[in-house]
Amino acid sequence: MHRPQTCLIRRFIVTAWIIPGLAMSSAWAEPSDPPPATQPVLLEDHVEPNTPTVPPPAYDSLWFPPGDPATKTQPWAVHDPNRPQPSVVTPPTPSLQQRPGRPPSDAIVLFDGTAPDADLSAFLPTIDREGQPTPGWVIRDGYLEVRPRGGSLVTREKFGDVQLHAEWMVPADYQDKFSQKRGNSGILLMGRYEIQVLDSLGSPTYPDGMAAAVYGQNPPLVNAGLGLDRWQTYDIIFRRPHFAEDGTLLIPATVTVFHNGVLVQDHWHLEGQTLYKRRARYTAHGDKAPIRFQDHGNRVRFRNLWVRPLSPRPLSVTDPSSKP
Ligand code: MG
Repeated sequence: MHRPQTCLIRRFIVTAWIIPGLAMSSAWAEPSDPPPATQPVLLEDHVEPNTPTVPPPAYDSLWFPPGDPATKTQPWAVHDPNRPQPSVVTPPTPSLQQRPGRPPSDAIVLFDGTAPDADLSAFLPTIDREGQPTPGWVIRDGYLEVRPRGGSLVTREKFGDVQLHAEWMVPADYQDKFSQKRGNSGILLMGRYEIQVLDSLGSPTYPDGMAAAVYGQNPPLVNAGLGLDRWQTYDIIFRRPHFAEDGTLLIPATVTVFHNGVLVQDHWHLEGQTLYKRRARYTAHGDKAPIRFQDHGNRVRFRNLWVRPLSPRPLSVTDPSSKP
């Protein structure tokens, strides 16, 4: 009886959340969001398969138009029906200021503060600058908080190409701190390539060191910050660099970043390891390395940290010698 209305609601939700793409995992909502008046319709309600009303034909009985054949760099003919089907993934649910969303079904969760037994098991024990063990970051009310000078959080698992989702907040009591001291942290891909974490909405700093900058290299396209005391999101797509056996750079790393759902780094070709005051440069390293969440001495908070290792890029991208 209520089905048509439900369908309309679902259509609206699909339009509102899926079409903006990555924005759906953003915590752009204002902190004063009122609690929903009714039970929200969760996104996963929409991944139910559409049951056909007639028996479906066998897949190989369907007619596909012939296409151009495979090439040296493209192993599949155009419209090749035998090309592997992408796996099905349950998408993430959106985050609100009051609570984080849920990661996609195939993500490696680094920290999900919603579980009552949330812990730091995805990370190595923290050490200080002298290499001495420290108590680690604070776990409180579903989030992590940097323990200043207690050491960075380093993942146990090593990663190369990844999609990374992180939510972070600079506490309100940083209102009297400025520039690089206004909630400084960072996410270092492969432990080397830093996307800056900072509140640079309330206080300007050098642009290549502001929030969402590739530190020391490239400012964000826009300042999409929300300010202090707000949960903010980064959705990062990182492709590792490739080195020859003699250590020379073959292909630079690239990074794309959405800050609160807004594109801020557009397939930036990294100039090398991010450095303070010095021009970035590459030093050859392995195919995988831990991700590091930086302790810069400021009590920055993180929650809903998840990562999805990505398949290698096509041969035409990773092997310059194979250009058609
Ligand atoms: Mg930093």
